[in-house]
Amino acid sequence: MALCKRRGFIYQASDLYGGLNGFWDYGPLGAQLKKNLRDRWWYDVVMDPCGGAPGPDGQPVDIVGLDTCIIQHPKVWVASGHTETFNDPMVDCRETKARYRFDHVSVCVPTGEADAAKPRFAFIAGTPSEARQRKKADKAFGAGLAIVPLAELPVESWNRVIAPDADQPGTLTEPRAFNLMFKTYIGATATEDDVAYLRPETAQGIFVQFKNVVDSTRVKIPFGIAQTGKAFRNEVTPRNFTFRSREFEQMEIEFFCHPDQARAWYEFWRTQRLAWWKSIGLAGDNLRVREQSRDELAHYAKDGAGTSDIEYRFPFTDPDFGEIEGVAHRADFDLATHQKHARTKLEYFDAERGELLANGGHKGERYLPHVIEPSAGLDRGVLAVLCEAFTEDASRPSPELLRLHPSLAPIKAAVFPLVNKEAMPQTSAKLHAELSRRFRGQGYIEHDARASIGKRYARMDEAGCPYCFTVDGQTAQDQTVTARDRDTGQQERIALDRVADYLGERLARS
Ligand code: ATP
Repeated sequence: MALCKRRGFIYQASDLYGGLNGFWDYGPLGAQLKKNLRDRWWYDVVMDPCGGAPGPDGQPVDIVGLDTCIIQHPKVWVASGHTETFNDPMVDCRETKARYRFDHVSVCVPTGEADAAKPRFAFIAGTPSEARQRKKADKAFGAGLAIVPLAELPVESWNRVIAPDADQPGTLTEPRAFNLMFKTYIGATATEDDVAYLRPETAQGIFVQFKNVVDSTRVKIPFGIAQTGKAFRNEVTPRNFTFRSREFEQMEIEFFCHPDQARAWYEFWRTQRLAWWKSIGLAGDNLRVREQSRDELAHYAKDGAGTSDIEYRFPFTDPDFGEIEGVAHRADFDLATHQKHARTKLEYFDAERGELLANGGHKGERYLPHVIEPSAGLDRGVLAVLCEAFTEDASRPSPELLRLHPSLAPIKAAVFPLVNKEAMPQTSAKLHAELSRRFRGQGYIEHDARASIGKRYARMDEAGCPYCFTVDGQTAQDQTVTARDRDTGQQERIALDRVADYLGERLARS
């Protein structure tokens, strides 16, 4: 977090006014890193879906893009179930007035019989309350200690539970529902009739426009609609840096297919999405795909082929993992509910299915498509990329560096004059202009003539810049420069007029 602030990746939102809990701003490098990840997703999903890999039975993977509004008709959220069920059961603390998500509260309980009357210490994993309450529990119980979810503790014993931030036992209320949608008003009068919500997910905008997309384009089932955009959730305990924020960005695909093919497409997308995260540098033990158990499934996914979470082992979840993308078979839940609430048929007429006719054609079949939804978080993706890239190495000029995948790195290259004299600054400025013209569309090209060369390399290592080129005394003699590779720290001399190609080849390879 300190490096992110120091180098201009991520700042606390409204920092000047003491910050706003659950909101984060992206600085110059963070904004470009986020854009690079979003652009990469859009390219690999919409422009060249899955790099041309065929879907089940060799079918093409067709996806079109969409950009829908943050504020939708309030009935959208009634139909989707968010008004009714987008509730997390919450518990309140009567002593501190703090509110916690019921399923996030864990409790240290004594294991020994003799300790049965002792207090229990509740905490929220990943917050300061965890260490504090564990320490108190260790002191109170000695060796015999177990951690159980509050949900598994009989309510009769809650009078012995000390809430995460409280001093007295028995201050937690029973769980109550709390809606996570941000409320606003449309128009000037601001009465209850004007209530609207900031979308808690981008998905519903896609379902609501499904019919228009089918009617106005030449898409045929199977096909997908993709969009990226902001989503808002009034998370009760935002935490772990950007991982659980109140305003965040999603990258979602709704892939529509015939019900008989849903399982095959679900498996296809699970594999493809895992491969995608690997392709941007999250390969290794820190990435996994996990099939959700039946108890975890959302209301719309109970009868489907399943839901899998693509998870990353963040430093704050270690040894556990945190979700970066969910791949869910939503069956026809969304189209069916909008069809009912909007009283408009959303069935798809598939001319290539149904009974075979004498002329070799088909009678056609009318059905509600099933949906496979790969839903990723852009902010969680950026955070995973940053965590994966963060390296500590005391032997380097910068003891902390970011080994960002070159395709995502916000600074693609830096050009330095070794010293600010002779013709070095002029030559490096010319090289900088040439590289900027060629690569500026992909990220920043830096030019820096200040401080010692070691300090400049260290700064670029911290910013995750993969390549540096230094113009020195030898350049004037033999028209070569030093090229330095961030990951190995190794330097080689290359011809000045080859620098652009050298960089181009390396960025294309990544
Ligand atoms: P969680 O269980 O962690 O609350 P979720 O299962 O509710 O997440 P989804 O509704 O499936 O999340 O949303 C899809 C994606 O949106 C998630 O995989 C995640 O990357 C992202 N996301 C969801 N909530 C947040 C949040 N509060 N902050 C940042 N990203 C989020």
